[in-house]
Amino acid sequence: MHIYKVGGAVRDRLLGRPVSDIDWLVVGATVEQMQALGYRPVGADFPVFIHPRSGEEYALARTERKSGRGYGGFTFHASPDVTLEEDLIRRDLTINAMAEDDDGTLYDPYHGKEDLERRLLRHVSPAFAEDPLRVLRVARFAARYAPLGFKVADETLALMRQISASGELQALTAERSWKEIERALMEPQPQVFFEVLRACDALQALLPELEDSPHALAGLEQAAQHDQPLHVRWACLLRELQPATIKAVSQRFKAPRDCQELAILVGECLSQCNQALELPSTALLELLQKFDVYRRPQRFDDFISACEMDARARQGSLAYPQADYLRGAAAAARAVDVKPLVQAGLTGQALGESLKGERLKALTAYKSAAEG
Ligand code: ATP
Ligand code: MG
Repeated sequence: MHIYKVGGAVRDRLLGRPVSDIDWLVVGATVEQMQALGYRPVGADFPVFIHPRSGEEYALARTERKSGRGYGGFTFHASPDVTLEEDLIRRDLTINAMAEDDDGTLYDPYHGKEDLERRLLRHVSPAFAEDPLRVLRVARFAARYAPLGFKVADETLALMRQISASGELQALTAERSWKEIERALMEPQPQVFFEVLRACDALQALLPELEDSPHALAGLEQAAQHDQPLHVRWACLLRELQPATIKAVSQRFKAPRDCQELAILVGECLSQCNQALELPSTALLELLQKFDVYRRPQRFDDFISACEMDARARQGSLAYPQADYLRGAAAAARAVDVKPLVQAGLTGQALGESLKGERLKALTAYKSAAEG
C-alpha cells in the first residue's frame, strides 16, 4: 500500500501557508488491511479511517459516480486497484488535486502547481458538475485566496453557471450549505464569496434576498477587516432585509441561534443605534431593556459593533460616536444597584418598576452629562 498527503495540506504548503489539518490518501489497500493495522472506520459506507494515534483522516482511494440528485446520490467505489490518478480526478479543483508522498515527491497529474502559480481556481474535470456543493466551495476558496490574487477560471465559472441553471443547488441540504457559508464568512474577504456566487447566478438560487441589498457586502467586508465574529458578520450581511426575511433566511440555512438572533435585532434596531445621540432617555431605556443588557451585555456590544461596521461601510472611515455613547449608556444602566430597593422592602412588580425608574434616572443623568 502507498500513503500520500493530499488536498489542502499539499496546496497550502506550496503556497507557504500554515497547514492545519492533513488529509491522507491510501492507495492499494483493502478495508480489512486498514482495520488490521488498527485504523478505525469513520462511517459504515464511507471508505475513511482514523489513524489510531494521530487521529488524522485516511481515505481509501476511490472513484465515484453520480446516481441521483443531491449528495446522497453518489456511489463510491473503493478498492485496491483504484489508482492515484483516478482518485485525484474526482476532486474539485486542480490546486486540491495534488498528492505528495513521504519523501516529498509531488504527484500533480492535473497541473495544480501551475494553477497555483497562475492564481487560478480551475476545476479538474467535467465531473465537477456532479456535486453542486462545489459551487460554494470554489466561491469559498476565492474568498480565502483573494488576498493572494486568485480568480475563478472562466471555464470553471461557466460550469458553475450551468450548475446554477440546472436547479441542483436547491437540492443541497441546509447543513452542507451553512457549513460552507459559515466558513466563507470567516475568511479574510468574505464578500468575494458572495460576489462569485452572484457571478455564476448561484446567489439568485441560494440567497435571492441579497440581490436587492446594495450595502450588504460592504458591511460584511468592514466586519471582516475588523475581525468581527461570525454572528456579527451574518448580521452585517442581512441588515438591509426585513426582520421577517432575516428570520426566514436564517432558518432556511439552520444558522445557529446567536447568528439568527443578532441579525434580527440588527434588522429591527439599526436605525435606533444610528440615532442614538438624539434618542430621549425613555427610548434609550427601552432599547437596553429589549436587549436585556443587564443579563446579556455581550449581545448588546455585538449589536453596536454590527451597526458600526455598517455605518463605516456607508460613510467611509468617519467616526461613529454612537458606539461609545451607547456603551456608556449600557454601563450607566447596569450600574444601578438593586440592593437598596430590595432592602427598602420592594418585591415583584413594584421592585421591577422602581428599578426601571432608577435606570431611567441614571440614563437621564448620563445623557445630560454627555451633552453638557
Ligand atoms: P481546507 O483548508 O478548507 O481544509 P481542503 O482542500 O483540505 O481545504 P477539505 O474539505 O478538507 O478541503 O477536503 C480535502 C480534499 O478533498 C480537497 O482538497 C479536495 O481534493 C477534496 N474534496 C473535498 N470536498 C470535495 C467535494 N465536495 N468535491 C470534490 N472534492 C472534494
Ligand atoms: Mg482539509
